[in-house]
Amino acid sequence: MSNTTKKWFSLNLGSRKENASSSSCSCGKKEGDCHSADTSPQQKDGFDQVFDVPMDRRTAFKKLTASLLIGAGAVSTSCSLVSGNESKEKAQIDWEEQFKGNYKLMSEEEKKATVERLARSYELRTGKTINLSSQGPEENVLFGYAFNISKCQGYMDCVNACVEENNQDRNSQMQYIRIHEMKDGKGFNFNEADDNYYHEVPAEGHFYMGTQCFHCDNPPCTKVCPVQATWQEEDGLVVIDYDWCVGCRYCMAACPYDGRRFNWSQPEVPEAEINKNQHYLGNRLRKKGVMEKCTFCVQRSRAGKNPACVEACPTGARIFGNLLDPNSTIRWVLENKKVFRLKEDLGTEPKFWYFMD
Ligand code: SF4
Ligand code: SF4
Repeated sequence: MSNTTKKWFSLNLGSRKENASSSSCSCGKKEGDCHSADTSPQQKDGFDQVFDVPMDRRTAFKKLTASLLIGAGAVSTSCSLVSGNESKEKAQIDWEEQFKGNYKLMSEEEKKATVERLARSYELRTGKTINLSSQGPEENVLFGYAFNISKCQGYMDCVNACVEENNQDRNSQMQYIRIHEMKDGKGFNFNEADDNYYHEVPAEGHFYMGTQCFHCDNPPCTKVCPVQATWQEEDGLVVIDYDWCVGCRYCMAACPYDGRRFNWSQPEVPEAEINKNQHYLGNRLRKKGVMEKCTFCVQRSRAGKNPACVEACPTGARIFGNLLDPNSTIRWVLENKKVFRLKEDLGTEPKFWYFMD
């Protein structure tokens, strides 16, 4: 096997920071001072991260929600018992949401509790259920993508499928994927490409090239985030914790591939069109003022499916798979086609290759 081939699966998988442990008890007292039965180590949660107060989640919530729940209870005396209980539950969920930690630093238990809380919150607000996942990366999986320039005809079925799958705002025309229409014989000239064509395709004398987040193995976007709201997962996916993002847009400026999208307004998706199969780090509903982007459809890829764009492409121009699996189609492409990546000289190591038949 050649050295160039080896490169695809010797990419740095990255080391993940372990959750910082503390010698304090969850009651907030120092070890040794505590007489409670609960001896589990204290997790550094959102309350600590935001206010730098040595108090665990449970204690903080007890203190913070006490007065609120009394208020909610008082209101409920004039309503039915059920609505009163629901009102208390909503208040509790809202407070817990307010002070939850960065998803990257959460334990598996906290992640599970977080997605359950969000799913319940959605149910209480809309009466509808969603399937919200916190499924983590699998061992020996490193996702990669290849795009066949000879096959793309510019139909944009991928763009539409992506918008629907990922619950993107319907008003702002936010789209993670761009299809660039380029003139034959002019090379890959993005400055002269038309990204908003409205005519019959394929147009004579043109070819088409798709871009999106390339899930770089050395991503400059994650390094500039001042609050660690974006990072690379073990399976190579570069993700964002929407609830931790402060909307500074440093990551957007750092991306050399125009891979990120910012919510300038409150995203809106009609209830009937909401994809209820969601992932915390993927297509769950976002809010105004946060960053988002392609996640290689984390809610699908970690469930063993292709991203929606790959499924939707009628010409088979899009190939997705596990770079660590020698029998995968993506590995076949990398080993048998002449592939290239955009702006190789930057050292960003995109896990997104282009090739031609
Ligand atoms: S394409 Fe841009 S947003 Fe995506 S990982 Fe690379 S630098 Fe980050
Ligand atoms: S916009 Fe959000 S994800 Fe991007 S750098 Fe700022 S805080 Fe981090």
